[in-house]
Amino acid sequence: APSRQFFVGGNFKMNGTIDSIKSIISHLNDAKFDSNTEVVIAPPALYLLLAREHLRQGIEVAAQNVFDKPNGAFTGEISVAQLKDSNITWTLLGHSERRVILQESDQFVADKTKAALDGGVGVILCCGETLDQREANKTIDVVQAQLKAVADKVTDWSKIVVAYEPVWAIGTGKVASTEQAQEVHAAIRKFLKSAVSEEAAERTRIIYGGSVSEKNCRELAKAGDIDGFLVGGASLKPAFVEIINAKQ
Ligand code: PEP
Repeated sequence: APSRQFFVGGNFKMNGTIDSIKSIISHLNDAKFDSNTEVVIAPPALYLLLAREHLRQGIEVAAQNVFDKPNGAFTGEISVAQLKDSNITWTLLGHSERRVILQESDQFVADKTKAALDGGVGVILCCGETLDQREANKTIDVVQAQLKAVADKVTDWSKIVVAYEPVWAIGTGKVASTEQAQEVHAAIRKFLKSAVSEEAAERTRIIYGGSVSEKNCRELAKAGDIDGFLVGGASLKPAFVEIINAKQ
C-alpha cells in the first residue's frame, strides 16, 4: 500500500486578532516538526494574507470557504482565483458549521469543491454525521451521500483531503473513540474504491476532526486509516505542535 503523508490542519474558525494570529504563527515557525507531515492553517479570510506573509515556507494556508463562481456580483464571497493570487493553496469546504448554520447542501459543497480543484486550490472536504444520525445508524449513509455528491462531479481526488468530522464531536470535548473513527474512515476508503477508483481509495488522506487534543492524538494516529487531523480549538494553542507530531 502507498504510504500517505500525514496531514494536520488547524481551523481557527471565527477566532483571532492580528496580534494573536501573529503569535500563533511565530510559535509554529519556531517549532520542530516532522518534515514529512503536511501542515496547513486556516485563519479567517481577513487574515489569510497576513498568515501567508508571516508563515515560513513549508507551512501552507487554507481558506475556510470559497465560492464556486469566477468573479462578479457576489457580495461577500471570495473566488478561487483570488485565493491563488494570494498564494492560498487550500480551502476547507463543507465544514459542519457551514452545513448546519448556513445550510449548505451536499450539492453546493460539491460545486465549490469542483471549482476549487479546477482553479488549482486543494480541498479539505469535511463530512460527518450528527448525533441523531449516528443514533439512527445512519452514519455511513450520511457520509457516503456527502461524498457521493462530490464523486459525481470530480474524478481526480489527488488534491482532496477528506476530513471525517462527526458533528457531535466538534467543539464538545467528546472525541470519537479510535474504533469509531477507524470504522468510518475504512468505510470512506471503501466508498472511494467503488465510487472513484482504487488509486483514490489508496492515496486519499482521510483525516479525523472533533475534539482532537494533545492528549488523544497519539492513540487516534495509530489507526490504519487515520492519516492526520483537522483541529479546531486546540489549533489556537501551543499544544497544536504536539498534535502535528502525533506520529513521532
Ligand atoms: C473543527 O472545527 O473542524 C474541529 C474539529 O473543531 P474542534 O477541534 O474544536 O472540535
